[in-house]
Amino acid sequence: MRNFITEIIDEHKNDGRFNGVVHTRFPPEPNGYLHIGHAQAICLNFGIAEQYGGLCNLRFDDTNPAKEEQEYIDAIIEDVRWLGYDWDDRLFFASDYFDALYEMAVDLIRIGKAYVDELSQDEIREYRGTLNEPGVESPYRDRPADENLRLFEKMRAGGFKEGEAVLRAKIDMSSGNINLRDPVMYRIVDVPHPRTGKTWKIYPMYDFAHGQSDSIEGVTHSICTLEYEDHRPLYDWYLDNIEIFHPQQIEFARLNVSHTVLSKRKLIRLVQENHVTGWDDPRMPTISGLRRRGYTPSAIRNFSEDAGISKVKGVVDLHKLEYHIRQDLNKSANRVMAVLNPLKVVIENYPDDQVEALEAINNPEDEAAGTRMAPFSKVLYIERDDFMEDPPRKFFRLAPGREVRLRYAYFITCTDVVKDENGHIVELRCRYDPATRGGAAPDGRRVKATLHWVSARHALTAEARLYENLFTVEAPEADAEKDFTEFINPDSLKIVDPIYVEPSVKSAAVGDRFQFERLAYFVVDQDSTSDKLVFNRTVTLRDQWAKLRKKTANPSGKKRRRRN
Ligand code: ATP
Ligand code: MG
Repeated sequence: MRNFITEIIDEHKNDGRFNGVVHTRFPPEPNGYLHIGHAQAICLNFGIAEQYGGLCNLRFDDTNPAKEEQEYIDAIIEDVRWLGYDWDDRLFFASDYFDALYEMAVDLIRIGKAYVDELSQDEIREYRGTLNEPGVESPYRDRPADENLRLFEKMRAGGFKEGEAVLRAKIDMSSGNINLRDPVMYRIVDVPHPRTGKTWKIYPMYDFAHGQSDSIEGVTHSICTLEYEDHRPLYDWYLDNIEIFHPQQIEFARLNVSHTVLSKRKLIRLVQENHVTGWDDPRMPTISGLRRRGYTPSAIRNFSEDAGISKVKGVVDLHKLEYHIRQDLNKSANRVMAVLNPLKVVIENYPDDQVEALEAINNPEDEAAGTRMAPFSKVLYIERDDFMEDPPRKFFRLAPGREVRLRYAYFITCTDVVKDENGHIVELRCRYDPATRGGAAPDGRRVKATLHWVSARHALTAEARLYENLFTVEAPEADAEKDFTEFINPDSLKIVDPIYVEPSVKSAAVGDRFQFERLAYFVVDQDSTSDKLVFNRTVTLRDQWAKLRKKTANPSGKKRRRRN
């Protein structure tokens, strides 16, 4: 990995800063599930540590018990592990440091750099000033240290109610950077904490907890997203004034992806308002949703690398994510035949009770995947789209009087079309050429199409869930007038039940991935039962991203002349 952050780290190594050590952390707040944006931060932090022979910690930033839950902690751990990263015994929680942070706050009070303020929340906001106006100092600002110590202890002991008192750093109420106008360090939150229970009534603010936690852990490079750039002076101020080890904060632009939203606040609404079935709904941009959709860890890692790290905000096209899962599954997923929209085919000259086992290749991209046997018989299903009674010029698949290949089987010719009383096609009558077994004609004659098929009496019935983008527009958050939920795609899930699948998948397990030949990649969903498999469509076979890339690389479509 090469980006502006590795350049900074290289400089530090050259200067001897941090003695050449590289230690990073991924610091999620357990107030929701991780999404693809977090995946990028995970790949970046763990990736950098790997690249420099350093370490990366997993640290929960659990400083707000009002919003944090054990369920989220568990899900985050599972997701980071699933992405393939390991933190050995370095699983930490900001709450591990509540005692240490309290002592640091006491130190700042002692040296006159922190005070207990009893202004109300609204007053604090008012006194803070604006970008154009300096703030106003609180009347409580100049309390002597021992009074502050006593009041801070009283806050801790529950002697104040929520909102009655806060601890603030004493910095500069007229600073051009509002983050330095005596920021709140501690506030009272009278809610039990998932880890420390009722021990604490006061909790450190993110800004006070974060840098000090980094320092305690010996983190050298504290990588965060751009919105913290203006917080860096505060990050530095705390460390300098407490006089402890000083990591370097570095900011990068957060990942945005088209056709989705990546803010926990919005994702939680999708869940709570039942727009999706849960955090792991396969339409969600969460890691658990992508996993259930059939994404692989390597596809997500490759996507992160490809999306890149930048100082400048941008939006990455969702097609890029799809491109990477296609690349991966093309190499790794076994092919099987399945028919989603069936049309019955009867092979008139095939013996009534005969069944042949025909050899089929599991993965043309991976010889080691071997072969399987697919049963062939007189009555088959093919895809309804693969037949047209009156085909236009460019339709090469099956039509009356036309010969096509059934994959791994025989050439067949359509001899008759059977319709119901409404004129709807219910069945095709065909003849097969026994000499073409395996799919080639000894006389060398050719056909223009190869169709997939499933033997009707051997087919497994299953359910297919076909997913489309969750939002109909590229930027669902961009409209100032409309709520993002107004852009939810009403057709984002289409259930097809039954579908017909070749019997080789009978014992497939949840999470097994397949390419349904000529259709799409699918994964076995956790809703499957012993009677019936449920398949989620991961991604279609068509690669729009490759097309898009070709177009942008060479927009005119003409060959470019090479310059010297
Ligand atoms: P959200 O806005 O989705 O709630 P957050 O920053 O509040 O995100 P955290 O749990 O604090 O969520 O994030 C953990 C880490 O992941 C942070 O270092 C944060 O900067 C990073 N991160 C969050 N969202 C993105 C994103 N879209 N792209 C890259 N990194 C991200
Ligand atoms: Mg955050």
